[in-house]
Amino acid sequence: MLLFNPRSYHPEHPDEHTNEMLQAVAGWFETRGLKSLKQDWHERTWNHDFVDFMRSGQVLATLMTPQGYGQNAAWNTLRNVEFAEIAAFYGITYWYTFQVSMLGLGPIFNGDNEQVKRRAAKLLKDGAVFAFGLSEREHGADIYSSSMQLIPQPGGGYIARGSKYYIGNGNEAALVSTFGKNSETGDYVFFVVDSKHEKYECVKNTVNAQNYVAEYRLHDYPVSEDDILSVGQKAWDDMLNTINYCKFNLGFGSIGLCTHALYESINHAANRTLYDRQVTDFPQVKRLFTDAYCRLAAMKLFSYRAVDYLRCASAADRRYLLFNPIVKMKVTMQGEKVIDELWDVIAAKGFEAEPFFEIAAVEIRSLPKLEGTAHVNMALIVKFMKNYLFAPADYPEIPQRTDSADDTFLFHQGPARGLGDVHFHDYNHTYGQFDLPNIEVFKAQIEGFRKLLLTAGPSEQQVRDIDYMLSMGELFTMIVYGHLVLEKGQMEGTDPDLLNQIFDVFVRDFSAYATGLHGKPGNSEAQQALIRGLIQAPVANPGQFERVWQAQVYALNGQYEMAD
Ligand SMILES: Cc1cc2nc3c(=O)[nH]c(=O)nc-3n(C[C@H](O)[C@H](O)[C@H](O)COP(=O)(O)OP(=O)(O)OC[C@H]3O[C@@H](n4cnc5c(N)ncnc54)[C@H](O)[C@@H]3O)c2cc1C
Repeated sequence: MLLFNPRSYHPEHPDEHTNEMLQAVAGWFETRGLKSLKQDWHERTWNHDFVDFMRSGQVLATLMTPQGYGQNAAWNTLRNVEFAEIAAFYGITYWYTFQVSMLGLGPIFNGDNEQVKRRAAKLLKDGAVFAFGLSEREHGADIYSSSMQLIPQPGGGYIARGSKYYIGNGNEAALVSTFGKNSETGDYVFFVVDSKHEKYECVKNTVNAQNYVAEYRLHDYPVSEDDILSVGQKAWDDMLNTINYCKFNLGFGSIGLCTHALYESINHAANRTLYDRQVTDFPQVKRLFTDAYCRLAAMKLFSYRAVDYLRCASAADRRYLLFNPIVKMKVTMQGEKVIDELWDVIAAKGFEAEPFFEIAAVEIRSLPKLEGTAHVNMALIVKFMKNYLFAPADYPEIPQRTDSADDTFLFHQGPARGLGDVHFHDYNHTYGQFDLPNIEVFKAQIEGFRKLLLTAGPSEQQVRDIDYMLSMGELFTMIVYGHLVLEKGQMEGTDPDLLNQIFDVFVRDFSAYATGLHGKPGNSEAQQALIRGLIQAPVANPGQFERVWQAQVYALNGQYEMAD
């Protein structure tokens, strides 16, 4: 899979307008240059100029107007994630403005209020940004406890009273989709407010960063029926369903940051001489770079395959409910590992003021923590473990989705419950088509994990222990991760050397997670013995390692550098 490179980027969407728009986005950043990018980041300047550019190029309007709300409008997930990857390649601020706009639009286009949908489409055309007001300072991930009140008024209508915390774009958004409760009925409700209204107070930026992550307060803000998006169970479902597809973008943000950091790191190391040798000749440097590259390639293969499942989703095929939180949780945490590995190589350079790396090093950390922490997403992933491993179902083959269709189902996902009814196609079918040495070792690890579950599965007490189940979840996630990496690898004809090298990393990671599980208190002796069996070494192949290093990793030296 090719890494994004602005120098050779030629998007291949079926319509020329999309290709020109995505190219123009990359071109806008390249023309601006690294120096001004870094200056804005250091001075924590919000991205007004990017928002102006997007207005003039109708970027957000093109990306996020669903079919039926504009001329040739289509909500195309592939196009959206490609934009997310490009924007994050230049910094999370640009990505975040788009991301929270999508979150803000979700409850609108999922909702019941046709008038607000039209309003939002018009505002998108006018170049507005949007926001999603869910989180509150006191309640964090406990979204059941929302304190925002919508208070019915005697003459009709409502006033809204309360505050929200950590709300991106809360400084500028034309519509802030706000989640609260009806003070009389206790029903959940989603309604929109305008950040420029006199009863809306943007209190502060909660972070000392270029992103604007607002605290806002509604001081008896007048809300009419026209501003209500959804009520009761529907409001709750719309909130979760919005997060379902928006959190997907986090993985692509991570891919963008890592890709830019990788180019910079290899350029630096390959052109630095210590003790009369190139830094890239140190064996540990080769290993760190190759591992980082394999992780990034896997992040991309998995995430872009997950796009196909999201675009093909329907009421009868809800497999995206597992794959999306993995893009969110696993891919973003792999991004942290990539940056850690690169930083171990470039050392002091990673602190310098001029290069891009400093941005990636700081911002990569936020991605696993947004839209539900890693724990919350892992708790969700574990719910699918039984059906995925032990109760496969038949589905039609999911093709690569490069068409420009509107992903209408995203706005009609229905009730958020019923996760236990979701079944998956048999992962054995995909793994069985590969016999590369490290994939064979990984298959044995999968078998060992199944045996553990079948013969010495977690006790009732262990199932209730979230810490224990999160550790199990890491092992389970790797099986699903490898599954879609192989599906995409097969479709793209990925080099077998690279696939085998990716699974070299996976075998080591699986072993490390098994070690973590082994160390949990409360394991029985039988469990400990079976878990020890999961710890395996990859099959050493120095020749293949050298080929991947030379032809794919070291070859990135000089391929891209952002001009000042
Ligand atoms: C930069 C940034 C931007 C953000 N933007 C927005 C935004 O635009 N809109 C918005 O609404 N929110 C936004 N958020 C809020 C974000 O979604 C929350 O940070 C997140 O929901 C978690 O809340 P918390 O950080 O307060 O953690 P807490 O809720 O305080 O969590 C504490 C600990 O408990 C664990 N935990 C909580 N629940 C569970 C569970 N069910 N199972 C297992 N463990 C659990 C957590 O993993 C964590 O370790 C943003 C946050 C940040 C940092």
